[in-house]
This record gives sequence, C-alpha cells and structure tokens, in this order.
Amino acid sequence: MTIFQKIIDREIPADIVFEDDEVLAFRDVNPQAPTHILVIPKKPIVSVAEAGPADAALLGRLLLVAAEIARQQGLEEGGYRLVTNVGRDGGQSVFHLHVHLLGGRPMGWPPG
Ligand code: AMP
Repeated sequence: MTIFQKIIDREIPADIVFEDDEVLAFRDVNPQAPTHILVIPKKPIVSVAEAGPADAALLGRLLLVAAEIARQQGLEEGGYRLVTNVGRDGGQSVFHLHVHLLGGRPMGWPPG
C-alpha cells in the first residue's frame, strides 16, 4: 500500500485542500514552491503509464481540479506548473498517480 492510499484511507494525516468522490488534493509535505499541492485520484492508478481508456475522464478531472485549486490559491494571474512524474527517470517516488501543482515563484525550464 502506498503512503497516498494511507492518506485516502485517513490512516495518516494530510493537509487536505479538496476532496470529492474521485479526487483528493493535499499539500506536499516537502514543498518545492510556496504553493505545492498534490492532486490524486482515489482509484489506485500507479501512473499515467498504467492508466487506460476507462480512466480518460478521471485523468481530465485531475487537471480541472488542479486548475480550480490554483484559481482558489490565487495562482492564476502569476501562473503555475502542473507535473506528473512517471517511473525512475521521471523522478517518481510514490507509485500512486499524482499531479503536482506548483506555484508562487518563477519556475525554471528545463527541469533539472
Ligand atoms: P513524486 O516524486 O513525483 O512521486 O512525488 C511524490 C511527492 O509526495 C513528493 O513531492 C513528496 O514530498 C510527497 N510526499 C511524500 N509523502 C507525503 C506525505 N505523507 N504527505 C504529503 N506529501 C508527501
């Protein structure tokens, strides 16, 4: 079981900023920007590489929820970054699909 499943199941605490039947969003415990929120499906999908056609609407919802949270957090004017890491070279460390919402500072490109 991943640490994010434990957050979904309320076995460990998290600073939750959004929740509905399908999606949970909470603050990253090790923030890389003034605002760093993780948006995850409650369905235990490992990464976008493991998602299938039946998950298309759910994947779309993750982005829409992330955009709505960004709006609520006051990030829309300055902009923000959405990232989903996949596998070893992508830098994925928790194997439950998540979209990072990062904002509140300028982001460099390309990422290191
Ligand atoms: P990734 O490296 O893309 O898999 O991102 C995993 C993210 O989860 C990292 O930014 C971690 O800081 C974050 N993280 C790990 N454990 C927790 C936790 N218990 N609560 C909130 N964020 C966490």
